[in-house]
Amino acid sequence: MTPDEFRRHGHEMIDWIADYLGDIDERPIQARVDPGDVRAALPEHPPTAPEPFDAVMADVDRVILPGITNWQHPRWFAYFPANNSFPSILGELMSAGLGVQGMSWVTSPACTELETLMLDWMQEMLGLPEHFRSTSEAGGGVLQGSASEATLVAILSARYRATRGSVNSDGDTSKLVAYTTSQSHSSIEKGLRIAGIGTEHIRVLPHDQNFAMQTDALADAIRADLVDGLIPFFVNSNHGTTSSLAFDPTAEIGPICREHGVWLHVDGAMAGIAALAPEFRWVNDGIEFADSYATNPHKWMGVNFDCTTYWTADRSSLLGALSILPEYLRSAAAEAGAVIDYRDWQVPLGRRFRALKLWFTIRTEGIEEFRRMIRGHVATAQQLAGWIADDDRFEIVAPHALNLVCLAVRDGDAATDALIDAGNASDAGHFTRTVLDGRSVLRISVGASTTSTDHVRTAWETLRSLA
Ligand code: PLP
Repeated sequence: MTPDEFRRHGHEMIDWIADYLGDIDERPIQARVDPGDVRAALPEHPPTAPEPFDAVMADVDRVILPGITNWQHPRWFAYFPANNSFPSILGELMSAGLGVQGMSWVTSPACTELETLMLDWMQEMLGLPEHFRSTSEAGGGVLQGSASEATLVAILSARYRATRGSVNSDGDTSKLVAYTTSQSHSSIEKGLRIAGIGTEHIRVLPHDQNFAMQTDALADAIRADLVDGLIPFFVNSNHGTTSSLAFDPTAEIGPICREHGVWLHVDGAMAGIAALAPEFRWVNDGIEFADSYATNPHKWMGVNFDCTTYWTADRSSLLGALSILPEYLRSAAAEAGAVIDYRDWQVPLGRRFRALKLWFTIRTEGIEEFRRMIRGHVATAQQLAGWIADDDRFEIVAPHALNLVCLAVRDGDAATDALIDAGNASDAGHFTRTVLDGRSVLRISVGASTTSTDHVRTAWETLRSLA
């Protein structure tokens, strides 16, 4: 592709994206394809000669779009939001255009310094503890690709601290024990497994009727493990579980972790973003005890996946766990201690210029716009909860302080499951099922950028008529 062709197709691509997002509500929400359909519609072998870009775009419209599940759809109530915005899309484009690798300060100073500033801006915007700032004595922040990567980094930092960083003992995980509840995201167990913590050393603590960790059980389990000569090293506290948006009592968990020197990670994947609005700052309760914290602008702040903000209060354990310095990565700036090399703050070496999309979005959308969107979603979810409560065929089965409402049909699991299937087939919304304490649950997660109360009302009326 020549520079002139790039210019032309680039302009067309922006139009294409604007059109896609502009009339997305006229599309079915879910992909309407069977397994194998997409591949079968494309040539089995690569072309031997270059094709015109227009031919590729024709296949996008013919084959790819029908195979897309439209996450930006205003009737998207499934899983969790992954909302995007125009400035964020432009930030992604510029990142691709610059094509820099920001593993070290010296490999692209602006990539590192803008990122550090963005983490400090986010700390301020979310009202997080000062000890997470890059200017603090022991802490700092970094962009990770995903909450799962952030959790893994937290676990590796905790492992390093618990094994005192000795090269020999850092690999010895045989005595390390981790604690969380069954409500935690699967990435917690995955991260622990990657770090070499066996399932028999992951304590799945009981939860209460609100799906929140029972802290007495945590204290008891830690004491019992210490008596057995084991090393409690990591606790995950949820600030908004995936299934029901439950909050563990971090303000009670924190002192227990402090007493025993256990690393406390707080997973605020989606719900943590609610703290942008001061009235929802309660989502940060107890966070002052956390050794690490992650939340996702790529879920509820209009910033495209991937963009997880991760902070630690204990930078030295993170660096101890992940710094390795081969000759070819040495730089005078890093050796003088004057700069951050983010390759030491993450698992991969290479890293994209992710901070651009955050910067573009914060500057051009503005904090008030994020607050307006979050408040709108929460208010709509609360209205929805009122409508559900007015129909005694349904039961709300979990607290719903933010933008997720979990309900069940009183007739039983089969009726709830049938309603989820019928609701999805109707295209009035896209819904996901979960199980809470053995019971089938229909989740309605409100969070796409363009979702309005009308979209939710229509979806709810359709569900009622199908029940
Ligand atoms: N933690 C929680 C509570 C989540 O809800 C999710 C995703 O749904 C994750 C972690 C994982 O997020 P990511 O896709 O950023 O790894």
